[in-house]
Amino acid sequence: MDSFSCQKVNVDLHMHTTCSDGTDSPEEIVKLASSKGLKVISITDHDTVSGVQKAAEVAKGEGIEFVPGIEVTADTSFLPPDAEFHILGYFIDTESSAVKELVEFFSKTREKRNRLLIERLEDAGYDIHYEDVESVFGKNFGKPNIVTLLVEKKIVPTRKEAFSLIKKYKVKREKLDYREIFRLLKEANGVPVVAHPPTLKIPRASYLSFFRKLKSEGLEGIEIVHSIHTPSDVETLRCVAGELSLFTTGGSDYHGYNKPDISLGMLNIKLEDLNFGIFTGV
Ligand code: AMP
Ligand code: ZN
Ligand code: FE
Ligand code: FE
Repeated sequence: MDSFSCQKVNVDLHMHTTCSDGTDSPEEIVKLASSKGLKVISITDHDTVSGVQKAAEVAKGEGIEFVPGIEVTADTSFLPPDAEFHILGYFIDTESSAVKELVEFFSKTREKRNRLLIERLEDAGYDIHYEDVESVFGKNFGKPNIVTLLVEKKIVPTRKEAFSLIKKYKVKREKLDYREIFRLLKEANGVPVVAHPPTLKIPRASYLSFFRKLKSEGLEGIEIVHSIHTPSDVETLRCVAGELSLFTTGGSDYHGYNKPDISLGMLNIKLEDLNFGIFTGV
């Protein structure tokens, strides 16, 4: 690294584009990252790598170190109710058969869930249809897109109420066991990282034993900085990752106007404060 050698390097390793449930295209998001002074970024769309190539190209032109990424959702049947278990995969070979397998599984199960959920809403008399959502947001849309449309069409007044409405129908996506996800990500030369651990809904006192077990099963890192983390979450997770010699990452989880409270780079994350820099060229 030459021109930044005396100053800390701004990073954001978690963001979503229009290829999943964000509202900035891959090109727009990289340009926005550049305007915010970010020097290392990753796009981590849910269940797809379709934005990676374009984002990498634009990042090159902007002088940004780009890390190919993805975010997928693991089965939570062994976790408390309402837990969300998201796994980030960094440095994946997007052309590998393992990534293709992962993407194929999740795109099928996501479409099935989306169709069923919207059918339930239609049956209940709400004026929302699968084709409407798909035509605005593309094939790989998620709940935040459905919520955006429910609010835009004035079917429900707020995003919060729209999420509650969706939740009522209890339509679940089929997920993969986390060990299978670790295996596929590693087969694609990727680094598996547990995203935003507070959504696992396990007590902090269990973090050390939980992550120790996951490490023995293939985990390589923990996302310690995220827009839902409190300062004490960050410190606890940093400590756990240090104890277990796991890599540490951080990102905003920017989704454009689908998550209006989050802006890109808002957490002011520095590469030097993460144990991730060894992977990057800066
Ligand atoms: P999906 O990937 O389509 O299953 O949507 C799940 C995503 O929707 C999660 O990652 C959250 O970002 C978002 N989400 C789900 N429930 C809520 C909620 N009650 N409030 C805000 N965001 C939510
Ligand atoms: Zn999302
Ligand atoms: Fe997530
Ligand atoms: Fe995310």
